[in-house]
Amino acid sequence: MKFSNLHLPTLKEAPKDAEIPSHELLVRGGYIRKEAAGVYSYLPLAVRVIRKIEDIIAEEMDAAGAQQVLLPTVQPAERWQESGRWEQYGPELLRFVDRKNTDFCYAPTAEELIVSLVRRDVQSYRQLPVNLYQIQTKFRDELRPRAGLMRGREFIMKDAYSFDVDDEAAGKTYDAMFTAYQRIFERCGLDYRPVEADTGAIGGSRSHEFQVLAETGEDRIVSCPSCGYTANVEKAELKRSTANPALEAQGEASSALVDTPGQKTIEDVASFLKVKKKQVLKAILFDSDKGVVMALIRGDHELNEFKLKSVLDAEWVELKTDGDFGPEGTRLFPGYMGPVGLPTGLPIRVVADDSVRGMADFVCGGNAPDKHYTGVNLGRDLALQETHDLRVAKNSDPCGRCGSKFRFFRGIEVGHVFFLGTKYSAPMNCTYLDQDGQTHPMVMGCYGIGVTRIMAAAIEQNHDQHGIQWPVPLAPYEVAVLALGIDNDELMGHATAIYDSLRKAGVEVVLDDRDVRPGGKFKDADLIGFPYQIVLGQRGLKEGVAEVKCRMSGERSSVSLETVAAHIAEQVQTGRHGISTQENK
Ligand code: ATP
Ligand code: MG
Repeated sequence: MKFSNLHLPTLKEAPKDAEIPSHELLVRGGYIRKEAAGVYSYLPLAVRVIRKIEDIIAEEMDAAGAQQVLLPTVQPAERWQESGRWEQYGPELLRFVDRKNTDFCYAPTAEELIVSLVRRDVQSYRQLPVNLYQIQTKFRDELRPRAGLMRGREFIMKDAYSFDVDDEAAGKTYDAMFTAYQRIFERCGLDYRPVEADTGAIGGSRSHEFQVLAETGEDRIVSCPSCGYTANVEKAELKRSTANPALEAQGEASSALVDTPGQKTIEDVASFLKVKKKQVLKAILFDSDKGVVMALIRGDHELNEFKLKSVLDAEWVELKTDGDFGPEGTRLFPGYMGPVGLPTGLPIRVVADDSVRGMADFVCGGNAPDKHYTGVNLGRDLALQETHDLRVAKNSDPCGRCGSKFRFFRGIEVGHVFFLGTKYSAPMNCTYLDQDGQTHPMVMGCYGIGVTRIMAAAIEQNHDQHGIQWPVPLAPYEVAVLALGIDNDELMGHATAIYDSLRKAGVEVVLDDRDVRPGGKFKDADLIGFPYQIVLGQRGLKEGVAEVKCRMSGERSSVSLETVAAHIAEQVQTGRHGISTQENK
C-alpha cells in the first residue's frame, strides 16, 4: 500500500482523556476515534490488527476442535429470564424494547443464547461433545469505561462454550482450551502468564485468567519463583499459620478503654495513639446472603472480599456502612467497632484473618463512640472463633503452596477460561440422554478472549516514547519503506523496486511516498509502529545501501539495495511465529 493512499490520520496531540500509552498511541497513530465514552470507531489500520488477532484465535480454536458460529448481539430477554440473569446482571446489561414493547438486551456475553441453541438440536450423548465459538461485538455498560480499548463499553470478544457429557470429559475440554490459549498468546508475541483466578459472578469451580504483564495493568498478580504457583491476588492462597489458636501471641500490657475522639480510620487511630498500623485491628462489617459478618484483619493488611465470600460460601457480600441492627436500639459504631465487648445477642459471625493470631498488645474499636481498647490480647480479652486466609496477598508474602516469597506483578486480563459445570445447563434444561436413556444436564465450560483489549495490551507491553513497537504477528503492516526525496527518480525507482519485491514475497508493506520532510516520515513510522523500517536517502543511495531499523530493538544496519528486500522478508517470516513467553523472559 502506498502511504499517500492510506486513510491514516496521525495526530501530534494526545487526546485529553488518555490515561495510558495504548490509548494515546492508538488515537495519535490513526487507529481509533472515540464516538462516546467507551465506544470507538476502528480505522483501517486497527481493522488490520483486529483481523490478525482474530485469525490467530480462529486458527487455534479450530485446531482445538471448536467451530465458529455467529450469534445475535440483540438478544431476547426471555432467555436471560430463564437463567435468572435478567434480574441479576445489573446496570452493565444494556436493555431496551422493540416496537412491540418486548424486552431485549445487547449481549455482554452469550451463555444464555448458546444454551438455547444447543439444547434445541442436541439430545443424545452421541452428539457430544460440542464446542462452539464466535468472534462478535459485545456491549457492557461499564461503570468506568477507561483507557481507550482497554475497558470499553463496546468491544470485540471471542467467546467459546463447550458442552460435554460429564465432569471428566469437560475437564479434558478445559485443558484443550487452556493449551489453545497458550498457543494464541504465544503466537501474538505477548509476554503473558496463565493465573489461577476467582470465578466471580459467572460462577463455576475452576478458572484461569491469561494476563499480559504490564505496569499499567489493572490486575494484581502474585507468582512464586520456587514452585511457579501464579494467581490473581483476588485468589492467591497464602501459607496458613499452623500455630495452635490456644497458644496465641500473648503480650504484657493490660487492656484499657481510651478516648479516641473523631479517630475513625486505622491511620488516624495509629497516629493518635502513636502505634504502628500493624498494632491496630481492623474490624469490617459486611452484609451477605449468609447474614452479617465482622471480618478482622491486621491494620496494615487489606481484606480480600473474594476470600471472605468463599469462606462464608456466600453468593454476595456487601460492606455494611451503618451499624444498625433493627429498631431495638442495639447498634455498632462505624469507626469504633471491634470484637471486644461486642453487645451480646447481635446476630454477627466474627471471622479473623490468620495473621490476627500473631497480634499482641493491640488496639481495637471500643464499641462505643470515640472509644478504642488498647493493650488487647488474645485468649485473655477475646477468643478467636475462626481464623482463615482472608487477606490480599502482597509482595514477599508466603506462597500458599510452598511457603517461598511471592513476587508481585501487574497484568492485563486478555483471556479467561471457566469450568462452568451445570450452572446454566441445569436451570435452562440443556440435557442429553445417555446410553441407558437417562437424562443429564450437559457439563459446560466457557472461554473468553478480549480481541480489542489484546490490541491495547500489546501496545502497553511494547512501546517507547516515540510510539508503538508492534510484535510482527499483530502489526498492521510489517514493513515501511521510507523514501526520503520523492523528486529523485533514481531513489523512487529503488524504493519502488524494494516495495514490489517485498510484496511479491508476501510481506505486508507500506511505501511512504508522501511529500513530507524526512523528520515527519520517521516520526510517523515510529508512532504507527511498523516492525521494520527501510530508509532510502540520498546519501545511502550513493553508497548503494538502505538503512534498516528494527522498531522493537532499535537496531540499525546498512544493507545493500540489492539484498535488502530478501533480508527483511526473511526477518519478517521468522517474526510471524511470535515469541513465546519463555523466550521473552
Ligand atoms: P474484567 O474483570 O476486566 O471486567 P471480565 O472478567 O468481566 O473482565 P469476561 O467476562 O471473562 O471478563 O470476558 C472475557 C474477556 O473479554 C476478558 O478476559 C477481557 O479480555 C475482555 N473484556 C471484558 N470486559 C472488557 C471491556 N470492558 N473492554 C474490553 N475488553 C473486555
Ligand atoms: Mg467485567
